[in-house]
Amino acid sequence: MNKIAAILLLLISFSLQAGQTSINSLRLWSAPDHTRLVFDTSASVKHKIFSLSKPERLVIDFSDARLNTSLAGFKGKDRFVRRIRSSKRHNNSLRIVLDLKSRIRPKIFALAPNREYGHRLVLDLFSTQSIAKAPVKKAATKRYKQFQQARDVVIAIDAGHGGEDPGAIGTYGTREKDVVLSIARKLEAMVRKEPGMRPVMIRKGDYYLRLRKRSALARREKADLFISIHADAFRNKRVRGSSVYTLSNRGASSEAARWLAERENSADLVGGVELKDKDDVLASVLLDLSQTGTRQASHDVASKVLGRMRRIGKVHHTSVQKAGFAVLKSPDVPSILVETAFITNPTEEKRLRSHKHQAKLARSILAGIRDYFHKNPPPGTRLAQKMNRKPAVKRKHVTNRGDTLAMIAKQYQVSVNGLRDVNGLSGDVIRVGQVLQIP
Ligand SMILES: [Zn+2]
Repeated sequence: MNKIAAILLLLISFSLQAGQTSINSLRLWSAPDHTRLVFDTSASVKHKIFSLSKPERLVIDFSDARLNTSLAGFKGKDRFVRRIRSSKRHNNSLRIVLDLKSRIRPKIFALAPNREYGHRLVLDLFSTQSIAKAPVKKAATKRYKQFQQARDVVIAIDAGHGGEDPGAIGTYGTREKDVVLSIARKLEAMVRKEPGMRPVMIRKGDYYLRLRKRSALARREKADLFISIHADAFRNKRVRGSSVYTLSNRGASSEAARWLAERENSADLVGGVELKDKDDVLASVLLDLSQTGTRQASHDVASKVLGRMRRIGKVHHTSVQKAGFAVLKSPDVPSILVETAFITNPTEEKRLRSHKHQAKLARSILAGIRDYFHKNPPPGTRLAQKMNRKPAVKRKHVTNRGDTLAMIAKQYQVSVNGLRDVNGLSGDVIRVGQVLQIP
């Protein structure tokens, strides 16, 4: 914040009545399953919340507060919120009313100031319909159908940060959350075109998803790989290059990796998550038990991706790095985190903004993924079938006395013409002891 802005803020706060809290701005993020409203307040504020029906409304009464921003811009854009309005009440209290499109389940909590923001009051709106049940059932049937046939390799693509959490910010003001979403979308389009693969986007727009929710979504989609896309940041603007990380439970492989993990893990604090989870200890025990299998796979994919990224530009670390990223803690899904470039390096920041370079990055990530899965196709996938079919091409038949082309064709369930083509035969004549290729 520059000095002028600081003085302005000071003036604004002097103009308030003594003790009154001001609500300086309101931000709204629409996620697929919920809507988040964030009130920026000058201090922590006392509030009461209640619902009214016919029509559906949600009322928040702030005691001793005033509104310092306009609510006009929020009309009709959201799935749940039709309109937001305010009125002054007795005793200097402020009422904010959300006119709703349907009944919702609200959750409200305060967040203390951090590096990015001051005092905030977060209001999450969830649908009251049990959306949890229907999609799971549908997904299960879909999965069963896929199981009967061969399935695609599922690549979960996670664009880091989002919504309330901008991620790292470059010299020219480029926000990490924007460029990584753009790269993720390009990768999504490429994976969709890739035979035997299917993309799943974890973050589909500009909203925040808690780190655990990201890996949970990947698990729900039965992902074969979880890939989180980020842009790096450092105090020294000259530092540049890309890095690829896997998860380590035993500590980071370098000081820098530890520093980075701390920064990325704090996203939940910036993104506005109520840190109330108490099952961390249990979770870490379970993770230790189940993660050994996927750790090797994660490392192998990571080194393939890193190998491809080395071909298009400088890499910051020449080997796969390990760090304790919360976003990678998915016990049964091999997971990697790609720091595409340093957004704090002005040259790389410019490149990160270029669609051409974004596509280049996405292409090399895909090439690494392809390198890995073509060598290690998960059982039951189309890629695995393709591998199994290869030896079949090499089937051979040594003709016995009495064999005819028709008999051999029937025995191997191939066509006579197919047999002729593969073996360069024009008629039906075969010799005893002749080696025939079976198509
Ligand atoms: Zn990041």
